[in-house]
Amino acid sequence: MGRVETAGHNTRRFKIGDRVGVGWINSACGKCRFCREGNENLCNDFRATGRDADGGYAEYTIIAEDFAYRIPDAFSDSEAAPLLCAGAIGYRSLRLTGMGDGDNIGLVGFGASGHLVLKMVKHKYPQSNIYVFSRTESEREFARELGAAWAGDFEDAPPGRLHCAIDTTPAWKPVVAALGNLAKGGRLVINAIRKEQRDKESVLALDYARDLWMEKEIKSVANISRKDIGEFLALAADIPIKPEVQEYRLEEANMALRELKERKIRGAKVLRTDI
Ligand SMILES: [Zn+2]
Repeated sequence: MGRVETAGHNTRRFKIGDRVGVGWINSACGKCRFCREGNENLCNDFRATGRDADGGYAEYTIIAEDFAYRIPDAFSDSEAAPLLCAGAIGYRSLRLTGMGDGDNIGLVGFGASGHLVLKMVKHKYPQSNIYVFSRTESEREFARELGAAWAGDFEDAPPGRLHCAIDTTPAWKPVVAALGNLAKGGRLVINAIRKEQRDKESVLALDYARDLWMEKEIKSVANISRKDIGEFLALAADIPIKPEVQEYRLEEANMALRELKERKIRGAKVLRTDI
């Protein structure tokens, strides 16, 4: 999140002083089959902000204008930051569930992305029940406050079958539990960059008849496309979705990361370089 400080001669979309944001997608080749089909998130040359390109924790960054987004005035800088990351990936995950109004959705894990997805679902699918699975009571309470129809632990049985679910946990046990809760033809979308090895053996509990038979599906989410971010920002401004944020100074980055690890989460954490 920031303002355009200087621009190249051929810049058309933005002018100096415009308020813009940059997401996880820093660039993609634009020529391969994936890019041409709108799946630039799968491009072999996908470059990520903060991983392949500097700028994640920086005061200044350089970005091609096609990969920057105008930020709606409705949002403060701190509110916009999680929209560009957790919100946009949550939007993509929700899109990949293929859900419709009235379908029950399970949110497995309830961090930054989960709480924004909940707000999107409430707006887009008002007839749907949202069931939240989390191992911490504070997250379950937070989910109920935001309007979840039910919140329980990973192994608890929700009041109804799930037509779809989004898993944002780093573990395997919740994946198996979620598959067991899916309705026939249901889809589990896994929104996690990697899964831990620690509870890998939980997968052995998978029972084909109970957990996969009847056309249940699993689909992962990888990266993000510009279309997802652009569409999501417009939707977020329209609803509007105001993310719950906790701000940290850059020097407190390690503390923020430690709290994430310890699941001390309420909404999204934002690092600020200007305070
Ligand atoms: Zn490409």
